[in-house]
Amino acid sequence: MRALPDSPLSLWLAEYGEYQPEPPLAGHLSVDVAVIGAGYTGMATAIALKRRDPSLDVAVLEAKTVGYGASGRNGSFAMTVIGLGFGTTALLRGKKFLQRAHAYMEGCVDGLERFIDEAGLQCDKIRPGFLRVATTPSYVKRLQRQVELMASLGFQGITWIGAGATREMVDSQRYLGAMWEPRLLLVDPAKLVREEKRFALEVGVRVFESSPVLGIARPQGAGGTDRLYRLATPRGSVTARKLAFATNAYSHLFDELGRKQLPAFTYMVATEPLTEQQLAPIGWQGRQGIEDARNLIHYYRLTPDKRIVMGGGPVGLTRGGDLDRDRDEKSWRHLEQHIHWLWPHLSDVAVTHRWGGPFSVTLDLTPALGYVGAERSAVYGLGCIGHGVSMSYRNGQVLAELLLGDGDGLAAGCPFVNRRVIPWPAEPLATAAKYALRGYLQAEDAFHEKVLARIEHG
Ligand SMILES: Cc1cc2nc3c(=O)[nH]c(=O)nc-3n(C[C@H](O)[C@H](O)[C@H](O)COP(=O)(O)OP(=O)(O)OC[C@H]3O[C@@H](n4cnc5c(N)ncnc54)[C@H](O)[C@@H]3O)c2cc1C
Repeated sequence: MRALPDSPLSLWLAEYGEYQPEPPLAGHLSVDVAVIGAGYTGMATAIALKRRDPSLDVAVLEAKTVGYGASGRNGSFAMTVIGLGFGTTALLRGKKFLQRAHAYMEGCVDGLERFIDEAGLQCDKIRPGFLRVATTPSYVKRLQRQVELMASLGFQGITWIGAGATREMVDSQRYLGAMWEPRLLLVDPAKLVREEKRFALEVGVRVFESSPVLGIARPQGAGGTDRLYRLATPRGSVTARKLAFATNAYSHLFDELGRKQLPAFTYMVATEPLTEQQLAPIGWQGRQGIEDARNLIHYYRLTPDKRIVMGGGPVGLTRGGDLDRDRDEKSWRHLEQHIHWLWPHLSDVAVTHRWGGPFSVTLDLTPALGYVGAERSAVYGLGCIGHGVSMSYRNGQVLAELLLGDGDGLAAGCPFVNRRVIPWPAEPLATAAKYALRGYLQAEDAFHEKVLARIEHG
């Protein structure tokens, strides 16, 4: 198994303060369920297993530290969107699927908030509402069509607001209006996942950090006994009756998961805290989460200490499943310039943190959860693209239900379960397909911003 790269620390991990990791696994351990990966999915799966059956022995094995992956680095938006947004999902998968998926996502956001409140997770959660801003006239039309689409599917609360109302909330001369959605939660991502760890330990889950799973064997059970999974780590080993892969954008490193997903990379920057004078012209008193209407979206928010945190724009790709792309100077510069484009008076603001990381992409841009193999003793969850913050908590509950086979219907209601996942093709076709897809998305953005915008402005 390839070692995972060391990455620049996200704002959230850098500002987290002192962190006490759990010791690595040493020696041999025998458990009912082993969970590989300690991001939101792994923690949620382990917690759900223990809540369903407190007698289960559940161990989570994490290669680095809790929150090393996307869960400690993300933009902090827990939202209802999946894939590339409402319009694209309807186009790719049909309106019926969008309707089911959006209802599931609404449940994901609400369920995550309920869990945070019930479990008392200290993660700076706010529910400030979401603006998807239009920055060209053609994006205005795109968003208005999406608002109409969601209304026609019976969803309440997603509305179009004009330039005046948008700029009253958050002011940029670039904003021509916005799609408003009230459901968004913002959190501190690293606090959330590490609070989930605290809660998991409290309910009896065992967590081992610095314990990469190096290999998985499954010897034939003697005399008709269950075949057990044997997981090897550098200083120990685990035997488990059941197994959950919660390895997200690293899943292709396991032969068992094949090419269900491949990684792509997104980048983020954070400014120093804004002064009152810098913030006054922008307003942003409600600290709404903001995305734009592009394919390769920019996503941004204001932190409790008044930094602008922005991600998105260019997407990084690697050949095949290479993972060494967490840094990208060009993308960071792009994001800094985008902040200046939105708010020219911030052209001198210092950027204090730059980071990036992989997100998990399936060929049809749709998440996937399900069984590995016919025996139904191992499960996986992956492919949340940029939308796993809200989804992972419920996905973990679904994975636990699949593993225990004692479902209360969450899995049945999940539109991503046990669907046929078309694998990415072998190299060099997969790399060619990824570059072609990104090229198309970029070209369409450029067409809106450079061609249509010029025509529309005369
Ligand atoms: C920069 C960035 C910004 C994003 N912004 C948003 C956003 O604003 N909103 C949103 O909803 N989503 C966002 N996402 C995506 C979101 O963060 C993910 O979908 C979500 O965190 C996935 O959680 P996870 O637990 O499945 O995976 P991860 O958090 O990636 O966890 C997987 C874990 O598996 C571990 N692992 C891998 N291999 C092994 C091994 N062999 N042995 C043991 N452990 C292993 C890794 O170390 C890692 O900790 C963003 C992603 C990135 C990278």
